[in-house]
Amino acid sequence: MIVTVKNQCSKREFDKLISWIKSLGLDTHVSAGANATVIGLIGDTSRVDIELLHSLEIVEAVTRIQEPFKNANRKFHPEDSIIDVKGVKFGGTHFPIIAGPCSVESEKQVIEIAKAVKEAGATMLRGGAFKPRTSPYAFQGMGVDGIKILQKAREEVGLPIVTEIMSEKYIDAFEDVDMVQIGARNMQNFDLLKAVGRLNKPVLLKRGLANTIQEWLMSAEYIMSEGNNNIVLCERGIRTFEPYTRNTLDLSAIPILKEKTHLPVIVDPSHASGLSRLVKPMSLASVGAGADGLIIEVHNNPAKALCDGAQSLRPEQFADVVKAIDVMLPLVNKER
Ligand code: PEP
Ligand code: MN
Repeated sequence: MIVTVKNQCSKREFDKLISWIKSLGLDTHVSAGANATVIGLIGDTSRVDIELLHSLEIVEAVTRIQEPFKNANRKFHPEDSIIDVKGVKFGGTHFPIIAGPCSVESEKQVIEIAKAVKEAGATMLRGGAFKPRTSPYAFQGMGVDGIKILQKAREEVGLPIVTEIMSEKYIDAFEDVDMVQIGARNMQNFDLLKAVGRLNKPVLLKRGLANTIQEWLMSAEYIMSEGNNNIVLCERGIRTFEPYTRNTLDLSAIPILKEKTHLPVIVDPSHASGLSRLVKPMSLASVGAGADGLIIEVHNNPAKALCDGAQSLRPEQFADVVKAIDVMLPLVNKER
């Protein structure tokens, strides 16, 4: 971190700043130029309150050299992390496809969809038991019973399951879930992040609706700081001014994340677009951009879905998407 000090600052103020920096356990390197004096902060600057430094009368500018995320940082872990979810691998040359309904509606529905998506090439099953809905009057999910249905489908079909946790209160119900999802609306629920950080279980961390890539990586850092390094990031579109789509898929987040972090990153083209007809082109674009996998909503009767029918594919449409992905994967050195 580099602090540029204002020209007219007194020696007394300058010395006070230096001793304050040293009190944080950091060393300093001062270089006095003709027009500005610059202090280099040496050591672990992750605990420095950058806003506080900025607010000091004598400080002209503060520049962060080191990124504030450590465990997730590729600089300290150059090779790709491979996250294993009951034998399904994310990262490296792997390209898993998670598919299933937005929400668990009944045993019959989930098992029918699970069979169809497996047949089409899905490697994991999704389904929301706890649903974060915009309206409190909309279907809220089946809760713990929904998790039991997913477990039954797993038994019947043999696909590992991923489902969203909304509150630490229900953490015991997730004990026999293969991967825990943190949804967009909870990306900065720091207590929940810490709670899943204490689990010995992979986490699918979705990007918040209006969060920067760095904020997202800081959320991953929260989970990792508690000891759980098994994280897969999921870009699911961000809110922009564009109303033709539900969200705007931030494709450039994928190559940026590949530079910044060793964690795998998958894409959710369903929530990113909100429109089933956009799922195929957005899936292929994600493959092209270097994604490590996809999570796609599939329903056996989208018109009757209790949640997100407009963006859900029918099983045969999903099968068509998988076929197109398979054509592209060798071009990006990946395999399903
Ligand atoms: C979901 O995957 O079911 C979901 C609610 O997604 P998001 O948190 O990305 O909106
Ligand atoms: Mn959904």
